Amino acid sequence: MFYLFLLKCQPSHDKLTKSEDGMNHQNDLLMDTSILYRSTQKYYDKQLEMYNLTYAQLPILIMIYEHEGISSQQIAKEGSYDKGTITKNVQKLVSLGYVRVLHSLTDKRAKELYTTDLTKSIMSKIYGIRRDWWQHIIQGIQADQLVSFTQMYQDMVKRAMEFANQEQRPVQFFKQQKLSMKAYPDHTSLVLYTGGCNFRCPYCNQADLVFLKENLVEISYHDIFQYLDDNRSIIDAVCIDGGEPLMHEGLSTFLKQVKNKGFLVKVQTNGSFPDCLKQLVNENLVDFVGMDIKNSPKKYRTTIGLMDYPIDDVEESKNFLLKGSVPYAFYMTLVEEFHNKQDLLSCAKWLDGANHLIIQTLERNGELIDPELHPLTSINRESLQEIFRPYVNTVEIE
Ligand code: SF4
Repeated sequence: MFYLFLLKCQPSHDKLTKSEDGMNHQNDLLMDTSILYRSTQKYYDKQLEMYNLTYAQLPILIMIYEHEGISSQQIAKEGSYDKGTITKNVQKLVSLGYVRVLHSLTDKRAKELYTTDLTKSIMSKIYGIRRDWWQHIIQGIQADQLVSFTQMYQDMVKRAMEFANQEQRPVQFFKQQKLSMKAYPDHTSLVLYTGGCNFRCPYCNQADLVFLKENLVEISYHDIFQYLDDNRSIIDAVCIDGGEPLMHEGLSTFLKQVKNKGFLVKVQTNGSFPDCLKQLVNENLVDFVGMDIKNSPKKYRTTIGLMDYPIDDVEESKNFLLKGSVPYAFYMTLVEEFHNKQDLLSCAKWLDGANHLIIQTLERNGELIDPELHPLTSINRESLQEIFRPYVNTVEIE
């Protein structure tokens, strides 16, 4: 099997290790896979140089050799290749004299691929090269471990192919707060947290979600809906927080299911996906929107940790909410290192006409991206009210 080229011991899923570069590497399957892939490629390219072949062509050549008469389409399906990659590599193999393309005898439009005598004369050497690499990388692994790992690896490859081919990936949730009295104003709610975010706010206290650690365990839809069904008497709303929930194309499908069950829906967003926000509102999938306001427009980029981010999208979302198409609240988290009186005054003017602003203090109970930051203490509650009240209808300070 071709994916066995990439076989490797599983990385540990719970330990945090410090490498020689002093960096922490936790659950970095992506990096491990990348290193293994590049090392394998280097080995094969070197060994195959004398045949003018490369690592990219080898699995295709072996597939043709072991299934004479196979079509390009079958190879693409079996090896999860795109059409362009197959065409390019088959053409190269033909030009090198390793493969012939013949018309099918049963279907004149179909083309079949066959190896030439040149291929047959070198295949035993190629199998030897493959075997040597395999024996090298499995050194020290017990035979029974190898059998079970091979099975697990095959399962992983199968799931990876299925997942990569999905048209629309379902939104995933990695954390939940089973009962919140304040996430949805005046309602009791279940709060679900998506993973990943397009911002990198240094004061973010959901660093594990933003960087989406590979060992985060997804909460199943079955468990979510079972919990909602079992707790209808106390919960009437579902809040979707993150990370940034609107990044996920499968969100609307999930929200339809929630709405069909009769729950209210709140979405908390950083405002950077105005089109998605408008669509969810227009489709009546959202009953309440919470939008983060990070700082004054001038200091927005520093506060979200992205120096080149154009804030037009945030502006568009803010203006959309100000029109009142859906009930909303703006949320601000104040941090000593990012917000001074001038910034807040500028924010207040920017939010002119807003209905509801909720000011939160920096919470240190999560995993902060920058743990050196502090809650804002140099401006007191009264001053905050004085700054925002001329521009915002209700200012709530938590
Ligand atoms: S605070 Fe919100 S917007 Fe900022 S990085 Fe964290 S999840 Fe993303």
